[in-house]
Amino acid sequence: MTDSVLTFNAGSSSLKFALFACRGQSVDPLFRGQLEDLDEDPRFLVSDAGGRRIVDQDLGQLRPGAWTHAEALAHLLHWIDAHDDGLVLRAIGHRVVHGGERFAAPVVVDDAVADAIEALTALAPLHQPASIAPIRALAALRPALPQVACFDTAFHSTLDAVERTFAIGADLRAHGVRRFGFHGLSYEYIAGELPARLGPRAEGRVVVAHLGNGASMCAMQGRRSRATTMGFTALDGLMMGTRCGALDPGAVLHLLRHAGIDAATLERKLYREAGLLGVSGLSHDMRTLLASQAPAAALAVDLYCHRIVREVGSLAAAIGGLDALVFTAGIGENAAPVRERVVDALGWMGLRLDVRANDSGAPCITTADSPVQAFVIPTNEEAVVARQTLARVAGFAPSQS
Ligand code: ADP
Repeated sequence: MTDSVLTFNAGSSSLKFALFACRGQSVDPLFRGQLEDLDEDPRFLVSDAGGRRIVDQDLGQLRPGAWTHAEALAHLLHWIDAHDDGLVLRAIGHRVVHGGERFAAPVVVDDAVADAIEALTALAPLHQPASIAPIRALAALRPALPQVACFDTAFHSTLDAVERTFAIGADLRAHGVRRFGFHGLSYEYIAGELPARLGPRAEGRVVVAHLGNGASMCAMQGRRSRATTMGFTALDGLMMGTRCGALDPGAVLHLLRHAGIDAATLERKLYREAGLLGVSGLSHDMRTLLASQAPAAALAVDLYCHRIVREVGSLAAAIGGLDALVFTAGIGENAAPVRERVVDALGWMGLRLDVRANDSGAPCITTADSPVQAFVIPTNEEAVVARQTLARVAGFAPSQS
């Protein structure tokens, strides 16, 4: 009998999952997959640990129409049970984007915790409802199975007061308005990988760029978060696939007061219709934009890279310099032209691109004599969720590696 942990990373219409075997305090991937497009064209996809697709099932053929989270999850649990190779499911872990003031560490979910997570929906409207739906559905399907919420905000609990505080009055700060920071599960994974890649420099001044559909950067020292680009919500900081990133609050006030746009519409426009999509008018997908000849697509990519470059300067200033820059997530791991532009623009800081290494996706993309090194490290948020979940239910502290 082998203990296992199931993890979920929920998006608005898809649900990524991964199953890990637990050996002592370590977790080994067994399967990963996705319940996708549940509203329109539901599919169930599973790959083995080597990335080989072993299930690609059109759920519409089992039952036409949209599938609820509960139905899709029941299907997944049934599949896991049917593939029982002596595995015993011990716990389920969830990536939850916002932990607010209350949650700075993984927590076992009961009704009160689920309510508290749901109450943070206004602070993460794109993500929080998607996380809570499978938590509630699984509580009904498997009430005896512990569920653990692992928070993207938690890694940034080491930010000090000048990084946490916005320059607003105490009456406004009393509403809980402060910098939280996000993508913490990804940053924790990268922090665990740094020693093997960077040697002693791992403990130095490292800026990590998590560039996926959502995007942020984290300045680490001693592999802990010292500064980060996202703020109170996951809307701040870098330009993203469909989110605007940093925007003058005066522009928000102007649009609300003088442009006839109500708050709900503006929220949608800033979260879902801005960023690469908004500037290009074409797509939120970096692949599409890099392949396009349209001037607006070129402007979107230029702006995307420019924002990263500016924020690297700001984060490096916050930690007194830079020893290494790390790229991760979909764009960071795969978009060599984006990395090239960013690293070239940071030549003044001591980064020298190794063009061939960058184009071939090598782990280190700067030259041997580059004073500051740049790396590509694939992230693995699911592994962090699995480790934190196992640690929480087994009662030991999660290791960082
Ligand atoms: P999420 O935040 O949803 O997990 P990902 O980390 O998968 O997103 O990143 C998605 C982004 O990665 C998209 O903009 C996509 O275009 C980009 N991406 C993935 N593969 C490539 C590639 N080969 N070249 C350029 N961009 C890529």
